[in-house]
Amino acid sequence: MSTTTNATPVRVRFAPSPTGKLHVGGARTAIYNWAFARANGGTFILRIDDTDPTRSTEENTQVILRAMRWLGLDWDEGPEAGGDYGPYFQTKRMDTYRTAAERLVAEGKAYYCFCTPEKLEADRKAAADRHDSFQGYQRTCRNIDPAEAQARVDAGEAYTIRIKVPDDRGDVVVRDAVHGDVVFNARELDDFIIFRSDGTPTYNFATVVDDAAMGITHIIRGDDHLSNTPRQVMVYEALGAPTPTFAHISMILGSDGKKLSKRHGATSVEEYRDAGYLSDAFVNYLALLGWAPDGESTIISRERLSSEFSLDHVSKNPAIMDPKKLDFINAEYLHALDDQEFADTVLIPQLHAADLEPAGECLHDADWYDLLAAALKPRTTLSPDVVRQARFLYVADDELEYDEKSVKKWLAKQGARAALDAADVALEAIAQDDWTAEKIEAALDPLPEQLGMGKGKVFQPVRVACVGNAVSPGIGETLALLGRDHTLARIARAKELAA
Ligand code: GLU
Repeated sequence: MSTTTNATPVRVRFAPSPTGKLHVGGARTAIYNWAFARANGGTFILRIDDTDPTRSTEENTQVILRAMRWLGLDWDEGPEAGGDYGPYFQTKRMDTYRTAAERLVAEGKAYYCFCTPEKLEADRKAAADRHDSFQGYQRTCRNIDPAEAQARVDAGEAYTIRIKVPDDRGDVVVRDAVHGDVVFNARELDDFIIFRSDGTPTYNFATVVDDAAMGITHIIRGDDHLSNTPRQVMVYEALGAPTPTFAHISMILGSDGKKLSKRHGATSVEEYRDAGYLSDAFVNYLALLGWAPDGESTIISRERLSSEFSLDHVSKNPAIMDPKKLDFINAEYLHALDDQEFADTVLIPQLHAADLEPAGECLHDADWYDLLAAALKPRTTLSPDVVRQARFLYVADDELEYDEKSVKKWLAKQGARAALDAADVALEAIAQDDWTAEKIEAALDPLPEQLGMGKGKVFQPVRVACVGNAVSPGIGETLALLGRDHTLARIARAKELAA
């Protein structure tokens, strides 16, 4: 594979900040890291970048871990998994950052800066007034004698630590597996801050200290970080650590081409899970949002993803979220389940979640659920669809609500009463033990001809009588599921409404 140019075993990491839920963009980044590790026999590391104390919470960390588990992205090192390079929470690595920064100061690769925010602002303004093309840090403290700087630090003066970008550094070229070579002017990078005056490391510093310490070989992340990368390269160079391969993947946009946000609907993994998407389908969909093994396949199994994923086929163009395609893929996965699996993993959990079945109990036998699964599966795009479709099976006969339009169209019509009467007689002739979809269909089949009416005119009134509306699986399956007594009771009740 062209992106793995050396024999070093692949080590990749996904490093979310627990400042919110796991967003679809983050999920796709995690999927690519996971798949890349798996495809290369490498190690997938989960690291929690929780250095922002105001926005990081333990609760968000748990939400992210849950989302990762739901996505099926098992990590080899990280929270809960442990590993030789821990801890895997940045807040627990503060000493490492401090030691690394002080080492760079001692080696003359970084320095203490005592400039106050007011001084920095005044310098910036002066540079603007003289139309200087460079309005960044003027390197005021770069040449303070190290002994003097240390004395000021020891005396308690406030300071930041800045990296010393070598004067002769020239252009910084980021070799990116997705974007190709991206060139940045080193002077524009500024002698940027690696440690703030409050004693916390900046993102660009902490992330590189960790990535270097953890032996990360490939950094796959959102391209919102591409502009940070030359600064990170400077930190690798200062630390004397090898620079990894970068792969910056595009943003996920809404259908209007704007950054994906609440306005477009669901944005977090949790929301998709709760809406009833299957983990496999969701991972399949997100994986293809910017990567394609062959430009044709829409259904990519987890196995294929984790053996074929390569950075060579990742697009640098923004990916557009397409809810219709996601639904299509989800339906494909649902339809591929066998009836029993569908019953166990989709149908019964959904019925429980909707309180149609009492918690922890199943009201019917396994055959009944298999039959219901077979009837509903082809009509299901999202798991909760089954609830709407099965609800008629869980209401008392005299509480079934009739959809007004269906009544108007099928029951309050000439001939409906005759159809119900004939169905009643035919169905009553079936013994309880023979109450199966096949026998029901065999009993109803001759009625249109006998009555001299079209099939719809005969079967739709029966359907509306038993279901409350005109949409349901085949009439035989529908009535078999409902049971003989309920069917006859509902037909009797509907006769009142029939013309
Ligand atoms: N915590 C950073 C983020 O969530 C990680 C970025 C990176 O992968 O370097 O954006």
